[in-house]
Amino acid sequence: MSLLRPSRRDLLKMTAAAPAFALSSPVMARTSPPDSGQAAGYFRFKVGEAQLTVVSDGYFTGSARRLGKNADEEEVLEFLEQHYLDSTTHYAHMNHVVIELGDAKVIVDVGGGTRFFDTAGRMLSNLEAAGINYDDITHVVLTHAHPDHVWGIRDDFDEAIFPDATYFIGSAEYDWWMKPDRVNEVAAPLQQVVLGAVNSLTVAEPQMEHVQDGHEVAPGIRMIDTPGHTPGHMSVMVESGDESLMIFGDSVSHAYVSFERPGWVGNFDMDGDLTVSTRRRLLDQTSADRMAVLGFHFPFPGVGYVMPSGDAYRFIPALWQWDDA
Ligand SMILES: [Zn+2]
Repeated sequence: MSLLRPSRRDLLKMTAAAPAFALSSPVMARTSPPDSGQAAGYFRFKVGEAQLTVVSDGYFTGSARRLGKNADEEEVLEFLEQHYLDSTTHYAHMNHVVIELGDAKVIVDVGGGTRFFDTAGRMLSNLEAAGINYDDITHVVLTHAHPDHVWGIRDDFDEAIFPDATYFIGSAEYDWWMKPDRVNEVAAPLQQVVLGAVNSLTVAEPQMEHVQDGHEVAPGIRMIDTPGHTPGHMSVMVESGDESLMIFGDSVSHAYVSFERPGWVGNFDMDGDLTVSTRRRLLDQTSADRMAVLGFHFPFPGVGYVMPSGDAYRFIPALWQWDDA
């Protein structure tokens, strides 16, 4: 934190350390994540010269059966059972990532913040645990505007959490969510999601660039069109030396279902057919090129590889290694 210019968030922390100035309990309750018996959620690895840190924002849960909303329910249940997955509740990790390459310090997506699930909003404390100063973030890439990826963009005072960064989002994504009157055109369950997207994107608007397929955020870091999950979803490709990584975002959203049943469409895949064709294109490309991949909702940390398997695929988790090798 900067001693000269404390942010609102720093002030909240100072207040937390000084009970005499305690804020009202709802604010304080959500500025510190719930205590957990687990270690801090971050994971470091390298892609060529790039240093990457997966930073967890926590998790959320949803209906497991809706992982294949276009599939036969019995088939979905059988798949879940075969994979030792809960038949009712889907536990989704929220993995975000910081890429340090050259002069750039890029974070991809900003988590759910304090307005999403109580089990989320841990990104800032995990950044701190990983020794990453949020004031040093130079670029923020937004893959799409769903709540778990963008609601964390603002703090409890409606200020952008990375004050000095430039923000990037696909033009198509921005235009879809920000279309005037969109909230009245969508089904009732999606209205809250539209309002949340508008409120979130508006906060960073003065610092935001709307980009096209292939946009280079910084040398070695490119955004590519991967629509379907949302209308303008974008993934991020990191290339350094001979190595590369495809940051899927939610274009490939489940480490087992999306790989082994790539035709199944999940609850939040907004255009089913486009989700499936984009997913197959990405899985074909990353397996053919033997690229590393990162899925934002895969089991933490979500880093691994894609192995072809018949007319589908398998996710192969990367080997976790001590950093003293
Ligand atoms: Zn998501």
